[in-house]
Amino acid sequence: MKIIVASNNQHKIKEIREMMNEFGFEVHSLKDEGIKLEPEETGATFMENAAIKARAVYEYIKTAEKKDPAKKDKKSYRDILVLADDSGLAVDYLGGAPGVYSARYAGKQADDAANNAKLLADLKGVPMEKRTARFVCAMVLVGHKKEIRVQGETQGYVIEEQKGFQGFGYDPLFFSSDLTKTFAEATALEKNSVSHRGRALQELKKELKKL
Ligand code: IMP
Repeated sequence: MKIIVASNNQHKIKEIREMMNEFGFEVHSLKDEGIKLEPEETGATFMENAAIKARAVYEYIKTAEKKDPAKKDKKSYRDILVLADDSGLAVDYLGGAPGVYSARYAGKQADDAANNAKLLADLKGVPMEKRTARFVCAMVLVGHKKEIRVQGETQGYVIEEQKGFQGFGYDPLFFSSDLTKTFAEATALEKNSVSHRGRALQELKKELKKL
């Protein structure tokens, strides 16, 4: 069975490939498949966005195969699974923001530094006990007549200044309740063991074992 990850983020693909090893799945990126598709993430939730991405890529592959005279009757799309994820940070004091807008919190072209600066500004003067937050990761796996949905979460606080240099995104501001340090101070192994993405992958593993 081949799994196509609806992403070109090499970090995510490596993590998913390692996890899928035990199932004997081949894990490919969109780039490996020569697919240039960036479905618009118009969902109101992480799960809706992950489903939009997974379904769009699966339908694209199915349609392309049906149109190609050489492959027309092959139906190999039946042996393909597409996996998409969507993730972000939800801060309680901000009513769940940045949420599905995590990547573009400080604007469309915003980078991690700008997003972190905006988050600190929005929480200026807010006491630590009100700075509770969680990272959420939704994953959707789509195949022929099947769809699996899982979600992983991890709790913590948004601290008042950045700490640590590992990871990416909001990691230097996210103090993990499980690790009692920021995600940017943790090793990749430590972070994966408690992270939203790690937990979603564990849930996905359980679901795949049932198949
Ligand atoms: P996406 O799921 O790759 O679209 O991620 C959305 C955004 O959420 C990223 O650009 C980051 O800002 C944030 N994010 C998601 N997961 C993490 C994480 O593990 N650490 C830090 N930031 C994250």
